[in-house]
Amino acid sequence: MYCAVGFHPNDVKDITEKDVEWLKDLAKSSPKVKAVGEIGLDYYRSVEFKDKQIEYFNIQLNLAKERGLPVVIHSRDAEEDTIKVLENHKNIGGVLHCFSGSLDFMRKGVEFGFYISYSGNITFKNAQNLREVVSKTPTFRLLIETDSPWLTPMPHRGKPNKPPYIWHTAKVMSELIPNSSLEDIDRTTSSNAKLCFGLGFDKNKDTITYVINNKLYINPTSKCNLHCSFCERETTQNFMVKGYWIWVKKDPDIEEIIQQIPDPNIYDEIVFCGYGEPTLRINVIKEVSKYVKSKSNTKVRVDTNGLFLAFGKKQDLEALKGFVDTFSVSLNAPDEETYNKVCRPPYKNAFSLVLDFIKLVKEMGFEVITTAVTYPGVDIDATEKLANSLGVKFRKREFEVVG
Ligand code: SF4
Ligand SMILES: [Zn+2]
Repeated sequence: MYCAVGFHPNDVKDITEKDVEWLKDLAKSSPKVKAVGEIGLDYYRSVEFKDKQIEYFNIQLNLAKERGLPVVIHSRDAEEDTIKVLENHKNIGGVLHCFSGSLDFMRKGVEFGFYISYSGNITFKNAQNLREVVSKTPTFRLLIETDSPWLTPMPHRGKPNKPPYIWHTAKVMSELIPNSSLEDIDRTTSSNAKLCFGLGFDKNKDTITYVINNKLYINPTSKCNLHCSFCERETTQNFMVKGYWIWVKKDPDIEEIIQQIPDPNIYDEIVFCGYGEPTLRINVIKEVSKYVKSKSNTKVRVDTNGLFLAFGKKQDLEALKGFVDTFSVSLNAPDEETYNKVCRPPYKNAFSLVLDFIKLVKEMGFEVITTAVTYPGVDIDATEKLANSLGVKFRKREFEVVG
């Protein structure tokens, strides 16, 4: 068990600077203190001392920063002021706890570097709006909590809440987060909590294979020949995807990968995909998918940026026939100008190389799905039209939703 220490907004009415000194000492009194909280603003119960709430919210945020601890934030009926305060305290890190706010508030929280923690109220009948917000929360920022004895999830609503009821909340969450099983929610929220509160999440272990929603993903490399502006490689380098840290410091060899797939039959699909470009290791794709097909009928997919023809040969793609079923190609734009802006390729003719790749693998008889991320400035409808004109399927991917 660990703890957070702080003055709750409903209790700040009578506190003084002396109490803050006491809190400072308490915050460093034990390694078990992992956060400063709950701190924040509550205009639902304590509207009469708003100014003092804001003052002590700021003071305690500074205290957390000084101590290098994350914060647990309570915000009730005070969205606007909470955002105003946090705008000056970006990247302290921590949690917006028992989140029940708007989509905009959630996105601001994510932008400011906070985790979004949901509790039993996402199971309530009248919480349709909140469920919509949950479904759009980036999974690398997703947390779950009880808030017991309050916010008891359905079907126990009305009784005092207790920790074992968390599964009801997790179940609803798994139905809201795309491509997620209950197990995925368990792992995602556990890993996120460990990372958020410094409870020993290991970022240094290479993730060669990982399972999400009963699909086995293979991460053959963390190298990439593109610099997409929306990619974590180019931004915050947070490689957490549904509870896994998707990175390999050393490219795994064929044997190492195969060792991690004793029985390919148990998966719905096997997918080459990571924060890197799988086709840079075309021989690994060939040998591993050959192995998969020798043991099972499980479908094999390669997620690619479609730039293989910039460095590879047609024959190497032909050699994948019968082993790879599908190519999922990041098209990402309806035209060259947008593509260059969004994906920032190192090759001049990159966009036409992607189109050539799509045509070629389609011609060879592979199933082809093109994708585009809903990134600002990308006309998704026009991108879908382009995909249709190439005779291939199209799937839109929500910006900031990975896995
Ligand atoms: S191709 Fe994929 S891994 Fe490479 S930069 Fe783009 S999104 Fe990231
Ligand atoms: Zn609270």
